[in-house]
Amino acid sequence: MAKLNTDLIKKYHQDLVFNYAEYPTKDHWSFDCKDNFYKNALLDWLPKNKDKKIFFYVHIPFCEQLCWFCTCSKFITKDYERVKEYLSYLFREIDILFNFLQKNNITLNVGTVFFGGGSPTILNRDDLKSLVDKLKSLFDWSKIDFFTVESDPRRVDEERLIYNHEVCGANRISFGMQDFDEEVQRRVNRIQPSYLFDKILTPKVRKVYKEIAFDLLIGQPGQTPEGMEKTCDEILRLKPTLVQLSLMAYKPWVAKYQVQMVAEGPLPDFLERKNLLEVIHRKLKAGGYVRTGFECYSLPNSPMTKAFKEGEAHYGASGHQTGGRVNFIAVGSSSMSNLGNDYYVQNFYDLPSYKKAIDEGHLPCFRGLKLNMDDKIRQHATQQIRSYFKIDYANFKDQFNIDFKDYFNEEIKYLDEMVKDGLVIIKEDGIFLTEIGQDFTQNIMNIFDKYDPPNKTYKERLETIKKSKKAQADILERL
Ligand code: SF4
Repeated sequence: MAKLNTDLIKKYHQDLVFNYAEYPTKDHWSFDCKDNFYKNALLDWLPKNKDKKIFFYVHIPFCEQLCWFCTCSKFITKDYERVKEYLSYLFREIDILFNFLQKNNITLNVGTVFFGGGSPTILNRDDLKSLVDKLKSLFDWSKIDFFTVESDPRRVDEERLIYNHEVCGANRISFGMQDFDEEVQRRVNRIQPSYLFDKILTPKVRKVYKEIAFDLLIGQPGQTPEGMEKTCDEILRLKPTLVQLSLMAYKPWVAKYQVQMVAEGPLPDFLERKNLLEVIHRKLKAGGYVRTGFECYSLPNSPMTKAFKEGEAHYGASGHQTGGRVNFIAVGSSSMSNLGNDYYVQNFYDLPSYKKAIDEGHLPCFRGLKLNMDDKIRQHATQQIRSYFKIDYANFKDQFNIDFKDYFNEEIKYLDEMVKDGLVIIKEDGIFLTEIGQDFTQNIMNIFDKYDPPNKTYKERLETIKKSKKAQADILERL
């Protein structure tokens, strides 16, 4: 096993380092941003950005069985009537949104459609088709490059995946693979042996899907370097075009059921997680995958590798994506819209509030943010580091007309320690993460965070989160 630099890991390990899928992080958004805020944002942003492609996200928050690691926004049910009822509200939300756009003569230039969850594969064939038909009637579907349906390997077969492609037009699949170790699967209540993937990833399926993505979750109970070696061997055998890693968040105060994962022993600690990551890096690289982002590996001829090389990759709420900056318009409970680097808006998580807003004829958003210029510059810095492992000074001159070295004078000084430790190299034209530094990407991004900078204490960070949670609870109570 490759040697880990444990001293560096101990030195830089920090609790509550955010993943920066968005910046400023959600705890700093405002609860005053509701329907009117979002509508004004759409009116302000869309006409000025007609040429920019939209990533249209649809959230289906239902699954049939609970995975104990899950922190997604979802509801567990086997009652399809609940799904039907939700769909009727989702259709109404789509109507409110598109009626508003049409009234203002705005058409959406959609380039990507993504159905996520929960598990969109909970939708039966007819309902999936009617949702797709609904969207087809509202924007030009012929311009869609990628249409993803997140799929639960336990609930689809070859026939269903071919139906999703031939009848609904899906050409990209994302599977929550998570880990192939049977013991790990048992301890997280998600049994899905690798032979399931052999059954569904047939030559016919591989032929019609441009991208097949696996999610691999690090930090699950029972994960060991030896088990991870075997999981990686299975991944190499099954050859998805893309592997997205993520670190499991253990938040039993949000998801109480997570405690079941520690019934038989503790979760891998941060050193053990680094060990697992080391195994994955080594195996996937040796197996021909290219690292195309902080937690992203793709095959050399895949769309993601092409996008990474051309500077068209981007990290956001749905992981690493192709297509440059991802301008999200999202529908469904908890979904988050992101208009360029100007606005963030998020829908209600809980279904009663989501439905109530729609019953009142409103877009069901409950918080958001209009970014100021400093937010935009710092958002760009975190995105550049996350997506490309570097900061290109010229890029900031072009985009924001700033001298990066002057603007971030303090932050660059703060990086001194990391330069000495071999995590970053500062050159005349930019800042570059070394191979070791790539494993500390989040810590390096954190230096550019004005709201929660690295010198904030754990207690101070916790206070920010508590304050935001309390404000959220107060809002719901008032509804
Ligand atoms: S991990 Fe996916 S399938 Fe499992 S409970 Fe969460 S959303 Fe549902």
